[in-house]
Amino acid sequence: MAKVALPAWPTPMEAAPRLAVEIGLNPDDLWIKRDDLTGLGGGGNKVRKLEWLVAGALRAGADTLVTTGGPQSNHARLTAAAGARAGLNVVLVIHGSGPPDEPGGNLLLHAALAARIVWAGDAVPAELARQAQPICAELSGEGAVPYLVPFGGSNALRARGYREAGEEILAQQPDVRHVATALGSGGTMAGLVAALGTERVLGIDVGALSDAGSVAAAFTSELTGSAVGGRTACTK
Ligand SMILES: *Cc1c(COP(=O)(O)O)cnc(C)c1O
Repeated sequence: MAKVALPAWPTPMEAAPRLAVEIGLNPDDLWIKRDDLTGLGGGGNKVRKLEWLVAGALRAGADTLVTTGGPQSNHARLTAAAGARAGLNVVLVIHGSGPPDEPGGNLLLHAALAARIVWAGDAVPAELARQAQPICAELSGEGAVPYLVPFGGSNALRARGYREAGEEILAQQPDVRHVATALGSGGTMAGLVAALGTERVLGIDVGALSDAGSVAAAFTSELTGSAVGGRTACTK
């Protein structure tokens, strides 16, 4: 399957010598993979996954992307941006009872990107995904062709975007020893493990899912066809 090219690759690797010394490393030993510079919609790691997701939606003949997240979800903002770029409508099923009195941050950007917001009440990610189903059915009833983008943009196929990021890192720093990433819905870490192996990747679990480490391991296995996981640390 081809992907839809959203920004230009590769993103740069930038040395962080003073931070390196601060945390006890040699000045040359710490680098930041600048995936905040992915360009589209304010940038961020979800763009690599959305290249594959938008391609999937277009192949399926969809005209509307539907996804879920919290009010400040970066994934929701970038889905809105990717939809706008590709000419697709976007419906965001958002956790919470309604707009705050003074909407800020990504909530403003969702609206500026012309996404429609459906407030879903207090629901955990799995429930939000269930609530998105009747909304998709409703859209179909109105003649739209919806495509449901998974939570955080993560599933095994979409983790391909981060396997590509891992390959970029290898080309930029062939002797890279460790890569640390935030671990939310799992796709980012899963793709990095597929490219770099279990020993080099450390996921810092932000607590978005109760079992993010095993979710990521399952995506990696599906992607590589072998049973591999990665090391994770937890923030809570
Ligand atoms: C979503 C996100 C992550 C985690 O990515 P997942 O693939 O959902 O695990 C890490 N960092 C930032 C800035 C993010 O927005």
